[in-house]
Amino acid sequence: MVLKQLSVILVIFLSSTIWAQSLPIRIYEGVKTNQLQCVIGSGQYLMIAHHENGIPTTVLLQTLEQGRFKIKGSLLEFYQGTNLIAQGSHFELIQRNQEDFVNWSVPEISTKIRSYEGDFELTIVKGQIQLINNVELETYLEGVVSCEGGSGHHQSYYQTQAIISRTYALAYQNRHQKDGYALCDRVHCQAYLHKRIGTTLIDSSVYSTQNIVLLDANGNYFPTFFHANCGGQTCPPEYVWNQPIEGLYSFKDTFCIHTKQATWVKNIALSKWTAFLTTKYNFPIDDSVSLALLQNFKSEDRTAFYIHPVYGIPMRDLRDEFNLKSSFFNAEIKDQQVILSGRGFGHGVGLCQEGAMKMAKEGYKYDQILRYYFPGAIISRNKTLIHE
Ligand SMILES: [Zn+2]
Ligand SMILES: [Zn+2]
Repeated sequence: MVLKQLSVILVIFLSSTIWAQSLPIRIYEGVKTNQLQCVIGSGQYLMIAHHENGIPTTVLLQTLEQGRFKIKGSLLEFYQGTNLIAQGSHFELIQRNQEDFVNWSVPEISTKIRSYEGDFELTIVKGQIQLINNVELETYLEGVVSCEGGSGHHQSYYQTQAIISRTYALAYQNRHQKDGYALCDRVHCQAYLHKRIGTTLIDSSVYSTQNIVLLDANGNYFPTFFHANCGGQTCPPEYVWNQPIEGLYSFKDTFCIHTKQATWVKNIALSKWTAFLTTKYNFPIDDSVSLALLQNFKSEDRTAFYIHPVYGIPMRDLRDEFNLKSSFFNAEIKDQQVILSGRGFGHGVGLCQEGAMKMAKEGYKYDQILRYYFPGAIISRNKTLIHE
């Protein structure tokens, strides 16, 4: 361990981190902790402990060197074993080379490691450690595409996912502005649970589509929503969010109907089901006509409401309440059970990932896949067209 305060090192590190656009991404969003463990996975990191008043402390961390951040009062402390190495109001970790990375874990919760490239900032927010990863957009996307897309697919699917994830990240980069970062690491923004995994196919798909985004007719980022499987029909945005979104419409998707998550079945106790309908929506359970309708609800196409709009029970609410894979299902009553036969997985708006994977497998190119799912979008390589 070398303890230094050499401005020369600072200059070398800072100058080496000026790359393309970088985004601050919150890691461990929703995880409350006052301790974080870090191990330098590869390369070198310069750790800077900032003090309210005074000169920052800098420490150079080498590959496999490790330590633990802990909160003490209003300060963050960095320990190696039982030795207190540095203390400050907030810390920065600056990578030496672009592929250097840090392995993070939350010792109080699990030993599971999450590796990320780029720089880091640690601060105390409401008595918890807030970890931010400042990462170049394209490097972030390599992580997102592998988290959101998984492995074993064809290149044109990964290229498609890279373009819609890039567009989404840029369109929503102010989503967490009030919290001091651009995006979180969860599905709320896009899953970014680890750095790129180094598969050439994913990395080259991101690289080969660099700067490509989808725009609407006004030059704004196109709303590139996506989900796992639409169940054979994409969902109108107003069924999910109560309002239409220009350029996004419902249509029949023939590519996803024989895929892994095309259908699902779930049984729910009839008493639980009717209790929810009666207490929340005053469903007239004693009315013979309504009761007869409840016995067997079948719908070929997506509907906004269960049974009939007159009862005012959104399919979306049933999905939320009973934790269903989708809001596209039939419901039949048998032996005091409600048997749900569902289609698809996810909100159903925009691009259907399993459909896009199938198209890629059948040889479609990424621009054909994008035009199929987002017929109103313009595929743009030209940054000057974009209205920020
Ligand atoms: Zn978020
Ligand atoms: Zn689909």
